[in-house]
Amino acid sequence: MSILNLGLQSVGLMRQKMGQEFEDLIEGCNSMEAILNSIFHRQSLKDRPFKTFEAATEQEIDNLWKSILQLDPDLNKDTTRQFKHVKNMTKFNEFYDHCCRKRHYFFEIKKCGNEFYNICLPLSGDKEMFEKISNFPDPMPGNDNHYMSFEDIYGKETDEKYHPSLKNKSNNNTADSNDSQLKPTQQYVRNVGLCVSCIECNKPRVLYSKYKVKQETIQKLRSFLETVDYS
Ligand SMILES: [Zn+2]
Ligand SMILES: [Zn+2]
Repeated sequence: MSILNLGLQSVGLMRQKMGQEFEDLIEGCNSMEAILNSIFHRQSLKDRPFKTFEAATEQEIDNLWKSILQLDPDLNKDTTRQFKHVKNMTKFNEFYDHCCRKRHYFFEIKKCGNEFYNICLPLSGDKEMFEKISNFPDPMPGNDNHYMSFEDIYGKETDEKYHPSLKNKSNNNTADSNDSQLKPTQQYVRNVGLCVSCIECNKPRVLYSKYKVKQETIQKLRSFLETVDYS
C-alpha cells in the first residue's frame, strides 16, 4: 500500500459528531483539503517530509472543460468519466492518439506544433518558446536514494522503468506464476465473497461480508468488479 493511502486510512467522509473539543479542532481545518494537507505534511519518506501542491480550482477545471468540449461534441462534463465512455468517440480518440501521453501517474496533453496537422489547433503562442517545452518526465532515481527533483530531471529522456508500482508489479508477476495468486476455487471461504487485485500493488484484497451473500448477488458483484479498477 502506498504511504499516502496509509495516511488516508484515518480519513472518513462520514462521521458522527464528536466531543466539542474535537469539533472545534476540526472546525479550524474547515475543509477536506485542509485536513488532507495536514495529514500528508505529517508523513515522510526516507526522512524527507511530503510536500503538497495546490489543487486545481473549480474555475480552472471549468476552463479546461471548455477546451476539452471543443474536441468532440459527444463529450459531457457530467457524464464522461471513464475510458468506456470515450472509446467510441472518433474525434476524441484521434486527438488522444495525436497529442496525449498517458502514464500511470500523469497525463500529458501537448500540441505537436506541426502546422500540417489539423487535429490540434495551430500554435497560438511563441514558436521558440514552444520548442523549449519538454515532455513531462517520469520518476527516475537520483543518487541520494530519492527520486530526482523535477528541476533535475526536466528535459531528459525518461520512461516508466523506475515507476514504483510497476517495479513492484514485475516482482509480483514472477511470484504469481508460483502460488501467490489465488485460484478461483480457493476464493470462497465461508463468507469471503471474492478477491480483487489492486491495480497499484497487484496484491489480492479479500472482499468479505458479515452475513452470507446470495449466489446471485455475488454474480452481480463479479460483473461489477469487471468494470472497475480497484486500488
Ligand atoms: Zn498536432
Ligand atoms: Zn494496493
